[in-house]
Order: sequence, then structure tokens, then C-alpha cells
Amino acid sequence: MTLRTIDSLGPLAGKRVVVRCDLNVPLRDGVITDDGRVRASVPTITTLVAQGARVIVVSHLGRPDGAPDAKYSLAPVAARLGELLDRSVGFATDTVGSDAAAKVAALGDGEVLVLENLRFNAGETSKNEAERTAFAGELAEFADAVVSDGFGVVHRKQASVYELEQLRPSAAGLLIAAELDVLDRLTENPERPYAVVLGGSKVSDKLGVIAHLLPRVDALLIGGGMLFTFLAATGHKVGSSLLESDQIETVQGYLTEAAERGVDIVLPTDVVVAASFSADADHVVAAADSIEATPFGASGLGLDIGPETATAFADRIRGSKTVFWNGPMGVFELAPFAAGTRVVAEALTEVDGLSVVGGGDSAAAVRQLGFEDDQFGHISTGGGASLEFLEGKKLPGLEVLGWQ
Ligand code: ADP
Ligand code: MG
Repeated sequence: MTLRTIDSLGPLAGKRVVVRCDLNVPLRDGVITDDGRVRASVPTITTLVAQGARVIVVSHLGRPDGAPDAKYSLAPVAARLGELLDRSVGFATDTVGSDAAAKVAALGDGEVLVLENLRFNAGETSKNEAERTAFAGELAEFADAVVSDGFGVVHRKQASVYELEQLRPSAAGLLIAAELDVLDRLTENPERPYAVVLGGSKVSDKLGVIAHLLPRVDALLIGGGMLFTFLAATGHKVGSSLLESDQIETVQGYLTEAAERGVDIVLPTDVVVAASFSADADHVVAAADSIEATPFGASGLGLDIGPETATAFADRIRGSKTVFWNGPMGVFELAPFAAGTRVVAEALTEVDGLSVVGGGDSAAAVRQLGFEDDQFGHISTGGGASLEFLEGKKLPGLEVLGWQ
């Protein structure tokens, strides 16, 4: 079965539609540093406004402890949404309290109201189903229909993602539909050659994806912190670089499986090794098999792939028809260690086919490095959700929308 779409809800003029978005943006001193998720929510909201619905937007922001916490207020997000929609957007200072109730009641056709952070209410993320259902029931009081569009949270069984959708007629928004369309193309008959580029901090986060994608891809390119566990698995010393010793055996299993299947696991041939974890640390390029031969010896830290590796990865990426990339190639937050990530991002923009960037930090990295979203085939708004989808898991927030 496929997702129920907004059309399935029938005419929405004058109806109160609660839209579950993922507006969990990074904030610094109350200022949004990356509004990608707010922009991604616009098409669905615009569609509902155009139909004359009374649009009630709900979202979480950060991880408040089930109670109001001013630093996680959605007020700045509501303001940004108003700018992007170019219309006035109301804001309720609570989620299901008296301010929300009054403002929902006063909402006119085609108007937009944002309710305060869902996670200011313990029921939203409670492990107890009855508590989640009770909170979902309070939200449902405001809804004639529900549109679920927070792709970043569909892998979570939370009140606004899972229970609410079962209490009212519900459908997927345009963002979820677009995300699934792309992820589907990565798992069902991808155009070949198909390369997957993995980086980021921990192998253990990505093992499920490696296992699920190994039978489906032509090449797996390994960078980021996880590359050192791969190097260790092939018998090399990695100095003081990130290493998950308990994963070495699993990684060796993947290397064997890949060889049997004829899948290339492409490992770095050189890495950037630094004296310490800081932007002004001394650093050198070292061969991947002799990381401890630098002046820093066993205390050297591998913080990026080297230039030779970056070029090899870029060639491989440009020669592919389908590329999925998750996880920065190095510690891109520190300028001297951003080059590998930049070269890989650049190559993705040149793919003649489908290029997809998934993962919160990866999306932030390409934007921070000055790339525009439309240079890629798709930038997924949901890191965990897209990875779990690619792991072949069933996602509760999609199942309640008819997805199987
Ligand atoms: P995503 O959110 O895109 O899935 P991850 O959360 O897995 O990505 O990883 C992102 C982090 O990985 C970044 O903060 C980056 O600094 C870090 N990282 C990349 N390479 C290394 C490395 N060699 N050593 C330590 N951390 C690294
Ligand atoms: Mg991350």
C-alpha cells in the first residue's frame, strides 16, 4: 500500500488541519543558523492555505524535558515561517493550553498558526502508550484532519507522529512524499553504477545501512571517523584516531562479504593527521598504512581523508549514476579538515544521475561549505529516518499513513 495523500482528505476549505512538521532547526542565541527544515515545510503549508484550510502547525524543537523551556521556544521559527510564506503567522505560547485553544478558535480560513513546542508536553515522547494517546487526544481536539509532514521524525513512535494520525483522517504531506520517492529510488532498481559514500563519526551508527546496502550497491566509499575502524580491520595502526575496536570483527565480515559479492569497498589511501583536535593544530598528510609514522607518532589524530583519496572518491562519484552520501569525510567544522568533505560535495553536484545527501550533519556541512540545495538531486531533511528507511526498517510514522 502507498501513502495516503492530501487529496484523500477531501475538500479542506474551512477545515482545521493540524500539520505535523519537523521544524527542529539549529539555533544559536535564538537565531536560526540553518532554516532548511522550515523551507522544506513550505510547500505543504502553502497547498493547505490555498485550499482555504485553517492551518495549525505543530513541531518539536530540541530535547526539552517534557516541560516548557524558553530556549527551545518555536517563536523564532514561527517568525521565519511567516517571512518564507510572506504572510502573517500566528503563534500560541502553549501547545494544548488556553492560548492555543483561543487562537485555534479564532483562526480564519487560509490562516496559519504555529503552536508552541510539542515536547514541552511529557505525553509527546512518553514511553507509555496511554500517555501518548492522551496527549494526541488533546491535539486532536484542534483537528478536523491531520497532515503528517515531519519526515525527520517518522521513525519515532511519538504522540504527534503515530497516535494523532490514528485519531483523525490523516495523510502524508508533500515533503514526506518527496523524501520517500527519492529513498525508494535508492533501494528499488537504482540506476547503475550505484555508489554509497559513508562518513561521519561512528561506524556503529551506520552498520545497519552498510548491511542492508551491501547487496544493492556497486561501490561503498568509506571516509570520516569510521574509516579508521576499517583501516584497523585491514591490519593498520591508526594512532589516536577515532576507533571502535568492538566493531573490527563486524567490519571484517563486511569486507569479506563485499569481496564475495564483487562490491568495491573503497578505503582511503591517505589521511590528514593532526597533533590535536583543534583548528590551529599542526597537521600533515600521511599514507593510510603508516599513520603512526608522522612526527606525532601514536598520538596523531586522523581528522580528514587526504587529497589523493578525495580525488579518487570524486572520480568514482562522478562516474556513478546513483550516489547516496551520508556523513562528512572529516571534521569539516574545523577549516583545515574540511577539504575532503568539500571535494566529495563538489563531485556530488556533478553527478549525471541521482545524487542524494542524507544526515543532519552532512546537510549542514554542504550548506556551511557554500553549496546550494538545488545543486544536489535531493538533500534529505531526516538523518535518522532516512538511514532507518535504507536499513529496510518499518517506520511507524509512515505505517499510520498507509505505507507498507
Ligand atoms: P550525519 O549527521 O550526517 O549522519 P554523523 O552524525 O554521523 O553525520 O557525523 C558527523 C560528525 O562526524 C561531524 O561532526 C564530524 O566532525 C565528525 N567526523 C568526521 N570525520 C571525523 C574524524 N576523522 N574524526 C572525528 N570525527 C569526525
Ligand atoms: Mg549527526
